[in-house]
Amino acid sequence: MKHNLVAGEWIPAADAVENRNPADTADLVGLFALADAAQTNTAIEAAHAALPKWAASTPQVRSDLLEAVAQALFARADEIGTLLAREEGKTLAEAKGETIRAAQIFRFFAGEALRVAGDALASVRPGVSIEVSREPVGVVGLITPWNFPIAIPAWKIAPALAYGNTVVFKPAELTPACGHVLAEIIHDAGCPAGVFNLVVGSGSVVGETMVNHPLVDAISFTGSVGVGRAIAAKAASWMKKVQLEMGGKNPMVVLDDADLDIAVPAVLNGAFYSTGQRCTASSRIIVQAGIHDAFVERLAAETAALTVGNPLDAATQIGPVVSERQLAGNLSYVALAASEGAEVLGGERLNRDTEGWFQAPALFLNATNQMRSSREEIFGPCASVIKVADFDEALSVANDTEFGLSAGICTSSLKHARAFKSGAKAGMVMVNLPTAGVDYHVPFGGRKGSSHGSREQGRYAAEFYTTVKTAYEFGG
Ligand code: NAD
Repeated sequence: MKHNLVAGEWIPAADAVENRNPADTADLVGLFALADAAQTNTAIEAAHAALPKWAASTPQVRSDLLEAVAQALFARADEIGTLLAREEGKTLAEAKGETIRAAQIFRFFAGEALRVAGDALASVRPGVSIEVSREPVGVVGLITPWNFPIAIPAWKIAPALAYGNTVVFKPAELTPACGHVLAEIIHDAGCPAGVFNLVVGSGSVVGETMVNHPLVDAISFTGSVGVGRAIAAKAASWMKKVQLEMGGKNPMVVLDDADLDIAVPAVLNGAFYSTGQRCTASSRIIVQAGIHDAFVERLAAETAALTVGNPLDAATQIGPVVSERQLAGNLSYVALAASEGAEVLGGERLNRDTEGWFQAPALFLNATNQMRSSREEIFGPCASVIKVADFDEALSVANDTEFGLSAGICTSSLKHARAFKSGAKAGMVMVNLPTAGVDYHVPFGGRKGSSHGSREQGRYAAEFYTTVKTAYEFGG
């Protein structure tokens, strides 16, 4: 059994969770200790006890720790990428890429730790000077989903530690292995006891204990809208700082003047890579009437030609769905789309040599934006194709959603690209690029039901992981 990291010690638990490979359920990735409320409380108290010293540590100490973690991740990218593919199901290439991304994020924040800046201003009163400085928020609780099991933990843990906070980290129960390896790396890199704690466990026990504990000063959560909403309500009653990254129903507009050699690969990538299990996945393909039939013909042919299989096989383009439950949910949306009047291509369960949760990518043709299958996040390899008359209708359909994470457009018109960049009600806008796939040194996040609180990543992460102090001084 893999243990939890609490106060610098690896601690077992009475219960454990089985982590199984979604492409081969006979492959047991590992058994992970399931923390209870008492173990979570101990981790929170350890983080609280470690806070004063870590908050006062020099930027060099924090930078060196993060750089050591980055180096270990770079050095072990093949091994960790393979583990990630086994526990989550994305292809080996995607999984190694995600591990390298985690390493890059740690390296970026190793630099940011040295660049924490403030302001010095003259006062409006004579003889008074003002300093504005950033301080750590305190103990931060980090709660992550299963779909990016090393990159999302990295983009929360690295800034938390860089800015002098102490951490209690809860990975998703479905994918604890990458979080565990990351904890080992942080521990082995010399992180002081209590500064970083790992508690694998359920959302209802470990997650809720973190959200309701008075010693946790801030919660950063990535996951579903329902859970995020509940966390925000509870955190508000404690006056905790919260940052929520949640779902999407991201539009990709294809205009008549789009280059099909750009649009078709961008839609295939955005809708189906990583098995469509990305919060930034393109799930509504909004296509102008003039290019609609030619685009759909090519998209349908290339979708049907995608190779679904074992992520460890180099020929595989689409790995399995993450779990039996998620697959059942996806299949119910395929049936729903058909019952709502869409023409469904693909979407059926597939059998492979091993027992796993494989699904053919699905297109819901002739869909409307009012269908439930076009409005609710599916989080699988399913995309609705919606025909529109012109740019104005495309933009209005793109914005007609409760979400607002990423929005894309394929066009060769500068005028339409500009109008879409300014008119899209989303946190991220892509022109002639897939809706998914972002850089790590710039802000990540959305609007409306997709995000709440300040942005993650890049230097904007400081807004969440620090709190600002304004000091006035007279005399001296
Ligand atoms: P989820 O909401 O079920 O779980 C996310 C995390 O929250 C898990 O660690 C879970 O254990 C925990 N949790 C569950 N109940 C909790 C509770 N009551 N209190 C505290 N914590 C609790 O989401 P998931 O199924 O793991 O992930 C899929 C979702 O994540 C999708 O909606 C997807 O869009 C979203 N997501 C968003 C982003 C983004 O940045 N916007 C990125 C990736 C995934």
